[in-house]
Amino acid sequence: MSQPSGPGDPVLHLRRVRKSFRSSGSGGSARRVVAAEDVDLVLRRGEAVALVGESGSGKSTLARIVLRLERPDAGELLVDGVDMLRREPRGASLEYRRRVQMVFQDPFGSLNPVHDVAHHLVRPLLRHRRATRADAPKQALELLRTVGLEPAEEFIHRRPYELSGGQRQRVAIARALAVEPDVLVADEPTSMLDVSIRLDILGLFDRLKRERQLALLLITHDLASARYLADRVLVLFQGRIVEDGATHDVIERPAHPYTRALLAAIADQEASPHPLVAPKLSPAVLSEGCPFRSRCADAMEICAHSDPAPRAHEGRRLRCHLYPAAAPAGVA
Ligand code: SF4
Repeated sequence: MSQPSGPGDPVLHLRRVRKSFRSSGSGGSARRVVAAEDVDLVLRRGEAVALVGESGSGKSTLARIVLRLERPDAGELLVDGVDMLRREPRGASLEYRRRVQMVFQDPFGSLNPVHDVAHHLVRPLLRHRRATRADAPKQALELLRTVGLEPAEEFIHRRPYELSGGQRQRVAIARALAVEPDVLVADEPTSMLDVSIRLDILGLFDRLKRERQLALLLITHDLASARYLADRVLVLFQGRIVEDGATHDVIERPAHPYTRALLAAIADQEASPHPLVAPKLSPAVLSEGCPFRSRCADAMEICAHSDPAPRAHEGRRLRCHLYPAAAPAGVA
């Protein structure tokens, strides 16, 4: 796998990806639940993309497809223009796993309590040949400094239970950085942390994105995190990206009825301690037409029998019949 050339260049592209699962309904009947429907997702060097949606919207499935823990039913996963699903049909190579790293939601569960911080950092350095045995301890200390755990010598031999939640998450980030990835997938990386340190961790992601030109995919139901960190927001509803645009535009001037409903519901939660968390607006039911139509105040006759395809509109991509479909849906 060759390396991408420079800032802003696409690193990874999910193209027209589809994925569905069989689900048992009441009375033993089976139905298919769509987790991804015609999804186009581009990750670029130095850019953070937030995938926002309620639970069950399909965002975790997309993350698993990017990580190659799940294989889509159809579509392509392009890295440097090469479809990795064809090149590596039996699963991801070690090199793919190096280039696409993950930071998990639970920093305690993702670290082995038996081993100290040094073990967690030296192991990937050696496995992916990013350091020699002699150099690895020095590089591990440098990684701790990179993620703000200083003095590094005080942290390197601690075990996970001797660290706070925020410190553990910094170690998990350092472990992901050890192999010099191009893409970092962060799945709700602050949701299990104290509110007081969430901003610090988001600030760390932001700095790493800029300094290392990482392509960052933030999976979240927390629009406050998306607003803080992401350059672009993709709103997911029942496996479809219904709105894709610059973060400021999408949050300040939402165009899709679902995004508007989401933000209106959030405004109603202002008394809550976490006012920007996406509520669950509708059950995941598959049927003909636009899946949001039963909740949509703007629904038209066409919405009952036609699921809108993605279309370009004023710098965003939208899946809604309110916007003309004439222009081809390019990648934003
Ligand atoms: Fe509403 Fe129709 Fe747009 Fe669906 S396609 S969001 S039902 S206007």
